[in-house]
Amino acid sequence: MSQLPIRLILSPHITSWDASLIACFSSSAGVQDTMAEPVPITDGFANSILAQLSSECVAELRPVMYPVDLEVRQVIYEANRPAHFAYFPESGMISVVAIMENGSSIEVSTIGRDGLVGGFLLLGIDRLPYRYFVQVAGRAHRIEAVRLRQEAERNSALCKAILKYQAALLSQSMQLIACNGLHTIQQRCCRWLLTTRDRSDSDEIVLTHEFLALMLGVRRASISEVLSPLQEAGLIKSARGRITVLNRKALEAGACECYHTIRDQHRQITG
Ligand SMILES: [Zn+2]
Repeated sequence: MSQLPIRLILSPHITSWDASLIACFSSSAGVQDTMAEPVPITDGFANSILAQLSSECVAELRPVMYPVDLEVRQVIYEANRPAHFAYFPESGMISVVAIMENGSSIEVSTIGRDGLVGGFLLLGIDRLPYRYFVQVAGRAHRIEAVRLRQEAERNSALCKAILKYQAALLSQSMQLIACNGLHTIQQRCCRWLLTTRDRSDSDEIVLTHEFLALMLGVRRASISEVLSPLQEAGLIKSARGRITVLNRKALEAGACECYHTIRDQHRQITG
């Protein structure tokens, strides 16, 4: 980090979900209904939970899962509203965001093809006080909450895989609490860009400064101050609502330890 020409900003200022940003989201809390046929039998899975299941378990799951598109800014769950479906992402990334009474917000978790969106449904909980929305477009297998519970009850391997992932998700969130409290905006920004780049399967991330500010819980102006030195040092290129990672290795050097810690913890818990 010290090798980078970056000015430290140690006092994050919380920003708000103003009307223009909220309008960026898809209107329906739920789902892009591109539901067609059940998942074809011949496909393999990129999703880590589904990929580790036996062929017998997969055969039982396939008829009750449906492929859906995940579109950027699509709201999967609205805070404190009932969730009726769970999603096994095959690609893309879902951000989980805490929104305070005054409208300030911060990302508290992310979910990609390594996990399940809506694992809490398995525990008989139908809502959480967080907004889930698509940060990086992709695809997922959607399953009704009641179906997920039924399948998990009769298949211990599925149940165990989901519970393990829930433990990894909890660990990730706990690490992010420490990260948000102890690490600089620059370090957190580098960590966030790396994680999102990994889940994008591309060096190019569709992202405005406004949204990056919301994810990190800082003012929009702070984002410009963070990104400018990264861009001047040739680590990234930021233009027209996109951030392109140009030098991943240097970006890793600029990130806090949490990037590797979260990744390693996930492997350890779910491996
Ligand atoms: Zn950190």
